[in-house]
Amino acid sequence: MAITREDVLKILSAVTVDAGGTTLPASGRLSQVVVDPTNRVMFSILIDPSEAERFEPIRRRAEGAILATPGVSGVFASLTSERGPNHPAQSTAPPPPSPGRAAPPPRTGPALPGVRHIVAVASGKGGVGKSTTACNLALALSAQGLKVGLLDADIYGPSVPKLFGLSGKPKVIEERLLAPMEGFGIKVMSIGFLIEAETAMIWRGPMVQSAITQMLREVAWGELDILVVDMPPGTGDAQLTMAQATPLSGAVIVSTPQDLALIDARRGVTMFRKVAVPILGVIENMATFICPNCGHASDIFGHGGARTEAERLNVPFLGEVPLDMTIRESSDAGRPVVAVAPDGPHAKVYRDIAKKLWSNLTGTDAPPTRAAPRIVIE
Ligand code: ADP
Repeated sequence: MAITREDVLKILSAVTVDAGGTTLPASGRLSQVVVDPTNRVMFSILIDPSEAERFEPIRRRAEGAILATPGVSGVFASLTSERGPNHPAQSTAPPPPSPGRAAPPPRTGPALPGVRHIVAVASGKGGVGKSTTACNLALALSAQGLKVGLLDADIYGPSVPKLFGLSGKPKVIEERLLAPMEGFGIKVMSIGFLIEAETAMIWRGPMVQSAITQMLREVAWGELDILVVDMPPGTGDAQLTMAQATPLSGAVIVSTPQDLALIDARRGVTMFRKVAVPILGVIENMATFICPNCGHASDIFGHGGARTEAERLNVPFLGEVPLDMTIRESSDAGRPVVAVAPDGPHAKVYRDIAKKLWSNLTGTDAPPTRAAPRIVIE
């Protein structure tokens, strides 16, 4: 039985948001309701950040009411302080912070039990190879003997399912807890597993705030040495909110060698500094072009700009990844180069970067020691 938006609005009319009995649909806080072809329901509730605690139980009630409806296959309800195009204008909530206004105080969410470090991979703009880098970096960290998770929080275009060749929906282990997917030995969760690609495009703004919280805290990550988070590109309010809401140990900025990308990368560094997240380093992606025919390296974009910029900004430089068709083709085929050609030259580039990253993060080159299995001699 197909669920319609009208059905959803009717059910949400039973959810009130204040003592006066104002219903959620009448409150002006409800976004556009989306029901995808699999009867998954999505919406968000517009709040001021200071109202988060009061509205979380309301969000849960709304989610619960929809989930209890026969025919509904799932629900994704989030709180947001970002007024997207699909939020009505009459809300009384104040607008979200914007650049130019005083920055919000640095804040990070509570630590994630079992996860030692959470590291964001970010970029000042899209298309610089952030997701490709995040995937291969996660695999290179895993090759070092670390327990690694990869969280694709790029709501504007989740690409990790494709890069890892993964599809399907994550299994629900118990109420409000999802099992991560598994790819090439690492645990993977992506907003792309939870919502359809087109829906992500419609919902990008309003879903940002609590989508990340849900993916961080309602996924059974287990014990991890490091959780790599593929952030949405850019440095707007959405990214700032995400950087604040996530208990990050540090951030990595991916940049191409072009000047424009470097200006954007600088904005990325500034954003993380604003929320007191240490910059673990800058990676220059598509640094030199390796000719697929003769193997000759040429600097078609100019090269070395990111290293110079990193020095100027006083942040570490982690390394350069060449513009190489093998990297692109392996990514497109869902077979990341570090996983499928671990002894090749590309994997070595990522492994060297991963080593520097781990050392900047922990101050040591060695992976954490684990309790060795006890050998019993009878
Ligand atoms: P972003 O996450 O920054 O939007 P992607 O990781 O999706 O960027 O990369 C954009 C495109 O560039 C993809 O087609 C990807 O395969 C390609 N790409 C990324 N890094 C490299 C590289 N070092 N060499 C060749 N192609 C690359």
